[in-house]
Amino acid sequence: MGNILEVRDLNINFQIDEKYYSAVQNVSFHIAEGETLGLVGESGCGKSVTSLAIMRLLQETTKVTGTIDFKGQNLLDLTEPQMRKVRGNDIAMIFQEPMTSLNPVYKIGTQIGESLLLHKGMTVKQAQLKAIELLKQVGIPRAEQIANEYPHQLSGGMRQRVMIAIAMACQPHLLIADEPTTALDVTIQAQILDLMRKLTADNKMSTLLITHDLGVVAEMCDRVAVMYAGRIVEEGPVRTIFHNPQHPYTIGLLKSLPKIEGERTRLQPIEGNVPSLRNMPAGCRFAPRCPHAMEVCRTEDPSPALVEDAHEVRCWLHHEARSEVHV
Ligand code: SF4
Ligand code: MG
Repeated sequence: MGNILEVRDLNINFQIDEKYYSAVQNVSFHIAEGETLGLVGESGCGKSVTSLAIMRLLQETTKVTGTIDFKGQNLLDLTEPQMRKVRGNDIAMIFQEPMTSLNPVYKIGTQIGESLLLHKGMTVKQAQLKAIELLKQVGIPRAEQIANEYPHQLSGGMRQRVMIAIAMACQPHLLIADEPTTALDVTIQAQILDLMRKLTADNKMSTLLITHDLGVVAEMCDRVAVMYAGRIVEEGPVRTIFHNPQHPYTIGLLKSLPKIEGERTRLQPIEGNVPSLRNMPAGCRFAPRCPHAMEVCRTEDPSPALVEDAHEVRCWLHHEARSEVHV
């Protein structure tokens, strides 16, 4: 199985008042064909920013370095017109709040057809028919009628189905889903996840699923990369990460999952706050919140270490170099 996406040493620096601040630092990951990778972390950890960098949708003033190989081509080298051929065609994206990405003044059918006109050279008539077919595929009843309606006439769950129809329209090889179910209630959330799982499997698509919800990761992903303050701190197969987490942050995240105890649901938040972009701690960025922080953690940044097959951790506790640094 080849890799459809390979991100290497991605660095993203935002310009604020003439200065640059590091939002994402040395992030590397890959997604194999047909695989779903979960990118998980608290809000502001850089996961959405990473996906926007892949889509080349960040502001011009933002400095992006590294490589983003998609099917063997570095997306960072493409011109804007070349990138437009990739966006929505080869790589599609769905966001948390469909209302902000749907255009309120165009009919549903027209919005689904748009990328088919742009990328597939269809006529308006062909695009309309295909739009109706796609609405049926995403489980929307009365598809012919809905195609003629406007976004505000639909429920949140139906709007997210429409977004999925738009994303699927050109049969992309990679789907990026950024918190696709966060705005939905639990029942609808489960239905949308089911739908995504079925469609990506049927179409042999690879998926980058961005979420803060480990429950969603457990249900949907093959592998998971845990992000903290702009860095990937742990990465591995989902089963491994859930059963044998090694990074103190991942352990904290898993502990914060609600546990059903009799009738009570208990949440255990990780103490402390995510550091701000303007004030990143030196060394390991998790050190101010880490119960195991050592002296070396506050000055030196651990590099990723392989702890077992396909399982990498960025923490001095799992570093052979630790002893060398201490003596
Ligand atoms: Fe904690 Fe140190 Fe590991 Fe960072 S490197 S997670 S501070 S033990
Ligand atoms: Mg986000």
